[in-house]
Amino acid sequence: MASAFAHAALGATLGKLLLPHPRHWPYWVAAALCAALPDVDSVGYRLGVPYASLWGHRGLTHSLLAAAVVAAVGTLLGQVAHPARRPAAARLALLLFLATASHGLLDALTTGGLGVAFFSPWHPERYFFPFRPIKVSPLSIRAFLGAKGLRVLASEAVWVGLPCLMLLLLGQRWRQHQRLGSANK
Ligand SMILES: [Zn+2]
Repeated sequence: MASAFAHAALGATLGKLLLPHPRHWPYWVAAALCAALPDVDSVGYRLGVPYASLWGHRGLTHSLLAAAVVAAVGTLLGQVAHPARRPAAARLALLLFLATASHGLLDALTTGGLGVAFFSPWHPERYFFPFRPIKVSPLSIRAFLGAKGLRVLASEAVWVGLPCLMLLLLGQRWRQHQRLGSANK
């Protein structure tokens, strides 16, 4: 897996891009949580669930189906928010789906473990991208708190942090451009 920090950073970036207004910051946090959520399966891994099984690490919880379920549940929960603070349901659903699905995309760019079962439960095959620059993060917190963890974070800073920063800057420039365009009409 990539570390929870990398997943959360990408989720929050997607939140800021799709719901940019500052009043929507709780949805940036929700997107960050959704992006880290699929690794709940590491609990099962510690309890002995075989890695390559349906419920194993990077199995069903990392699938596009799981992302759709998380998006549907999250969008329903979002309906309790005050109408003035609530984004359009379709946009919230899209954000939560993309944030949760982004988890598998990052994992498929890592250097270790088994691939990601994107199409589980229908197709249990595990996939990696041909280009895998992100150093895989250890599952154990103890192993993460050492030199290995630092190497993982350095690799994620380059391959996740910088692209997120660039996306945020591009989003900001695009919104400025839109504002100038509508002011000149
Ligand atoms: Zn994962």
